[in-house]
Amino acid sequence: MPSGRFAPSPTGDLHLGNLRTAMVAWLFARSDGATFVLRFEDLDTATVRPEYYQRQADDLAALGLDWDEPVIRQSDRLAIYHDVVDRLVAEGLAYPCYCSRREIREAAQAPNGPSTHEGYPQTCRHLSHAERSARERSGRRAAYRLRTDERSIRFDDLVAGPSEGPVDDLVIQRNDGTPAYNLVVVIDDVASEIDVVVRADDLLSSTPRQLEVARVLGLPPPRYAHVPLVLSPSGDRLAKRDGAVTLADRGALGETPAQVRSFLASTLGLCEPDEPVTMADLLARFDPAGLPTQPLVLDPDRPIVGL
Ligand code: GLU
Ligand code: ZN
Repeated sequence: MPSGRFAPSPTGDLHLGNLRTAMVAWLFARSDGATFVLRFEDLDTATVRPEYYQRQADDLAALGLDWDEPVIRQSDRLAIYHDVVDRLVAEGLAYPCYCSRREIREAAQAPNGPSTHEGYPQTCRHLSHAERSARERSGRRAAYRLRTDERSIRFDDLVAGPSEGPVDDLVIQRNDGTPAYNLVVVIDDVASEIDVVVRADDLLSSTPRQLEVARVLGLPPPRYAHVPLVLSPSGDRLAKRDGAVTLADRGALGETPAQVRSFLASTLGLCEPDEPVTMADLLARFDPAGLPTQPLVLDPDRPIVGL
């Protein structure tokens, strides 16, 4: 059964940009008769705040989105990710990396350094047993990196069009033992049979790495639809500090979830800003080819009602 998904990190309230992307993801899936998965990307224990699982789900529901059970939490799936990392290491497809961020930066900048590499300069790729042991003995903890064919990968994005980007020996497990986003996203999207990954286009540049992970794992990659970001008037990605950007903030200004839904849908070209619409109405009008390809600039200081 093909599925779509929305995969927030429960680290705070969803803002209007997140909510808009969630609406597009839902419309993509439901217009295709697909199931819709809500997946909490909650592996970064330093930033997860438990109250936001429910608050994020409530906000999505308030907009009229629904999803199929079970709701997925990546923190329940750690054993699965660790098995994959172990297997990749055992097969020689991943290797331990002891570098600090600073060492990586310096290696990349060194005059005789491996300037041909876009990302990680492969310092630890060819360490001998003795060199590894020495690093372990000095108390360094290893991250694990995928052994990739250093190159660029092209793909056709359903919204952004033909896209291309570099792939390096990316981290699949951080040195605190946490499986890395670029690994788990691929495992989970395949496990949920995600047909089209719909997400904000700040992740467009991660996609080549994820396609490479899928290739190395022998998994069929999904298709991708990267939705342009919502920006604040300063041109930066919309953030909480920009003002009234969450459903709760808008509610405090007297704007209802239904009004926010109409406003967000209007920015997708699906209705007038003040037109009452349900998600079912929007579904009937949805055409992926009509999605905007430019970022939306949103001024949180302006009311969204009566535009
Ligand atoms: N958890 C990521 C975020 O909240 C989304 C990852 C994805 O959609 O692949 O930005
Ligand atoms: Zn290294």
